[in-house]
Amino acid sequence: MNFADYKRFLECYMGDDGFRERFDRAPAVALREAALSPECPVEFLQAIAAGCRSYNFRPVLERFSAELAELRNFAAALEESNPFTVRCRSACGGNARFEAWRERRRRANRAVLQPLYFDRSFNIAVAYELGVGCSGRCGFCCFDAPPLRENFRYTPENRGLWRGVLALFRELLGDRAGAAALYWATDPFDNPDLEKFYRDFYELNQVWPPITTRWPLRDPERSRRFAGEGREHGQPGCRFSVTERGELRRFFREFSAEEAMDWSLVLNNPESLNRYSASGRARQAEPQECQEDTTSCCLSGFLVNLCRRSVRLVSPCVPDEANPYGFHLWSEASFRDAAELERVLGGMQERFFPEGPEALPFLRLPPVWNLEIAGGRAELTSRYLVRRFEVSRQEAALLERLKRGLSRREFDREFGGELAFFGKTHGLLEMLWKSGMLSEEEESWTGSISLW
Ligand code: SF4
Repeated sequence: MNFADYKRFLECYMGDDGFRERFDRAPAVALREAALSPECPVEFLQAIAAGCRSYNFRPVLERFSAELAELRNFAAALEESNPFTVRCRSACGGNARFEAWRERRRRANRAVLQPLYFDRSFNIAVAYELGVGCSGRCGFCCFDAPPLRENFRYTPENRGLWRGVLALFRELLGDRAGAAALYWATDPFDNPDLEKFYRDFYELNQVWPPITTRWPLRDPERSRRFAGEGREHGQPGCRFSVTERGELRRFFREFSAEEAMDWSLVLNNPESLNRYSASGRARQAEPQECQEDTTSCCLSGFLVNLCRRSVRLVSPCVPDEANPYGFHLWSEASFRDAAELERVLGGMQERFFPEGPEALPFLRLPPVWNLEIAGGRAELTSRYLVRRFEVSRQEAALLERLKRGLSRREFDREFGGELAFFGKTHGLLEMLWKSGMLSEEEESWTGSISLW
């Protein structure tokens, strides 16, 4: 298979309604006119195209296992050789309590976010905003970024703060500190000093995180230079967001399929078959333009704004009224320097990354789980998961109480003593805890995330 041309075929089909119409009418002619030779059966491309239209890839899975295996092997080899994806997905031993918290968040989300989408997404630990606001002004912005107001420039003072913050996260999180993004509700190419911040990041973490920018064509030579420097540092990937069909066609003229082979295009133009997560400004979009049970947030950890000197602890969730940006806000604070940030993070660790369920003041099964108990068996069902296991009468009683929720004092009174701490009831709590099935959100948290 010619991977570069196969990838460009997908981008053309997903993003350009003109190509889509021509391909559906006469596939061979459309491929020839676009100078694409994916070197795979046209029936396979047609099945992929049908999947893109319907979001149902089952027929492709059933009929084209050899082609899919080739694509999967190719993608897996790319991932394994990329230090960034390794830091996102593999175990990192830097901070056991933080790692366990991230794993509980991942498992909790597995129950409510679309598995196909969720399993593929990155899971970063820190996101740094090197500015306030974004020049993109995209109508669908899932983080509802305000207009660009300020950039964090690479002055001697800012350089000192930046390197101090990076060193702190490196010390606290170990290798996991490399699973980071240098943007969030910002566009990295808005910052004229971006490359200097990247070089420091690489020096301290030996990772060059991928970029996501809406502006690959603002200065194509900068895009090329940035991508080239990334490649030299082990990061061939860039993500470019496209918001207009004309831009997509210009992109194809500017960058050949071979040159753009390692880059992802996020096809956000109105003609695209791509769908948004229903968060931020996309909450106003038509329901058919959105993909349910997805989120644009891929951060379980710390969101740091260097201009504001603020830090937030967040994790992905299904977007809703209470969490309109698709992340749950656990805590937020400000800091003056790296030393104060260290104290802030220490406090967050104590409060939000407890070592076991004993630390929870209130024990509760999250409402996403439906509980049924019959014949000595419990069945817990969420939107995307089912868990079944045998239970004693005591455990069944505890599950019923957890469904309604009980305080630690009530737990001690009703299930206390030896049984609770050395017997099977405690084992049940441990299992639920490790599976992300005990609610950890602060019931009384009143923070606001309206202050971008
Ligand atoms: S989607 Fe990205 S580029 Fe567009 S406004 Fe939001 S942060 Fe900026």
